[in-house]
Amino acid sequence: VISFGIENVLKKLNIEPHNSGTSTGSNFFGNGNEILSNSPVDGNLIAKVNTTTREDYDKVVDTASLAFKKWKTVPAPQRGEIVRQFGNRLRELKEPLGKLVSYEMGKSYQEGLGEVQEMIDICDFAVGLSRQLHGLTMHSERPGHRMYEQYHPLGIVGIISAFNFPVAVWAWNTALAWVCGDVCIWKPSEKTPLCAIACQKIAADVFKENNLPEGISCLVNGDYSVGAYLSNDKRIPLVSATGSIRMGKIVAQAVASRLGKSLLELGGNNAIIVTPDADIKMTIIGAIFGAVGTAGQRCTSTRRLIIHEKIYDQIKNALKDAYSQLKIGNPLDESNHVGPLIDTEAVENYKRALLQVVEEGGNLLVEGGELTGAGFESGCYVKPAIAEAEPTFEIVQHETFAPILYLLKYKGPVENAIEIQNNVVQGLSSAIMTNNLREAERFLSAEGSDCGIANVNIGTSGAEIGGAFGGEKETGGGRESGSDAWKVYMRRQTNTINYTTELPLAQGIKFDL
Ligand code: NAD
Repeated sequence: VISFGIENVLKKLNIEPHNSGTSTGSNFFGNGNEILSNSPVDGNLIAKVNTTTREDYDKVVDTASLAFKKWKTVPAPQRGEIVRQFGNRLRELKEPLGKLVSYEMGKSYQEGLGEVQEMIDICDFAVGLSRQLHGLTMHSERPGHRMYEQYHPLGIVGIISAFNFPVAVWAWNTALAWVCGDVCIWKPSEKTPLCAIACQKIAADVFKENNLPEGISCLVNGDYSVGAYLSNDKRIPLVSATGSIRMGKIVAQAVASRLGKSLLELGGNNAIIVTPDADIKMTIIGAIFGAVGTAGQRCTSTRRLIIHEKIYDQIKNALKDAYSQLKIGNPLDESNHVGPLIDTEAVENYKRALLQVVEEGGNLLVEGGELTGAGFESGCYVKPAIAEAEPTFEIVQHETFAPILYLLKYKGPVENAIEIQNNVVQGLSSAIMTNNLREAERFLSAEGSDCGIANVNIGTSGAEIGGAFGGEKETGGGRESGSDAWKVYMRRQTNTINYTTELPLAQGIKFDL
């Protein structure tokens, strides 16, 4: 059964509800088992997708390898021109693609549109970048010699992505990889296969219209076993993997065992430190959006609030009051603040975490719980919860991918809060709310936050594409998107040219015959 005009959305995106999930261009093929995509919004079946077999996968790699031979010779600014056209196509299709993201993944329509906007933004960034893939020039120690470095295309980039950003993470990788001269094979989450098919179709059409060969953009579908084809394949020099720490550890070991490169974007356990000098109103808005936005299913979602004892009760009461006003329901209805979790397994994880925090001695300030009845038939809707906890609780060390916020109290100087914040295995996003310059600067200093992202007077979630995105420790250490993140998609070469008739050796070494 298909509801709310999804047929129209699929029509605009030129895709079917029943698709094969393997592609090197505009045609889709594949002989693997079927995966079903049920919308967490209403539980309806929206797509059946045939997964990729090993044989299909090998065909894809052969086509991608051939395409790379051609694509790497296209001048980078011309590759940028193709990415520009792709960005424009996304502008035209922003509304249906945003709607599909919202319906298949369950985030709000506004966030679905926001995700497509991120794809458009990274395309714009990549177009500019295509004329700026700079290396350095160095002075040679030998007379009559010139030395410089240049960046060359790397090859096939494997992209493994998570369900929670079903389209943007792919674009963060592909837009840069394409201008760098690489070709891409994408293994999306098995929970959002239709979003991936829609994106592949958009990209493939643009390549075809420009008479470029098949294989520059490729798609394979399936579960972890299809992801493992990529991580174990020595024909794939770089695997960019976004998802859980558990997945990252497996992928990293497989790629390292063949001395390939991996770019890992894994789980977070993000905290906001709230000091006595915080702006309370900003803190409440930042904390709530961070904790309940995307139903707590962002890698940068706020999981922990580390609040100074002097303002603890004030923050606690304001949060309790604000949570009572949250509207939970269909994310395509713009008056709702919180949509569903991705599936019923995620609901079970949420319920287990709430039980555990109580078992460990925590107090549920806002109880939470599963929602049933009219409007919640998919079984994926839960109420955002707040638990007062201790930083040392076992459950607080984990990223539960759901709207659960832990309140932790600190005493004394901001250093104590920073210590609590850093004392987890993850290191993705962090924030401090303060108007005190000394506290803010300490938080940003070498003694401060150990995360890849550290914000002042902004929450933990919602990064801009212009900066390098990623985190430290078990978050994996990778950087994507802006700044100089492009360098991982290229190989660096140092070149020395002798324009004399002598052959002086480096380090003054004499070798006379
Ligand atoms: P997941 O780890 O279950 O799956 C992610 C992807 O990895 C899927 O495509 C899956 O099929 C694949 N996969 C799983 N096991 C694999 C294996 N052994 N070999 C190869 N591929 C494998 O994660 P999820 O539930 O889809 O997403 C949620 C997680 O992603 C959270 O931990 C979240 O923090 C993280 N995430 C991180 C970022 C970031 O940028 N740091 C962004 C988005 C999501």
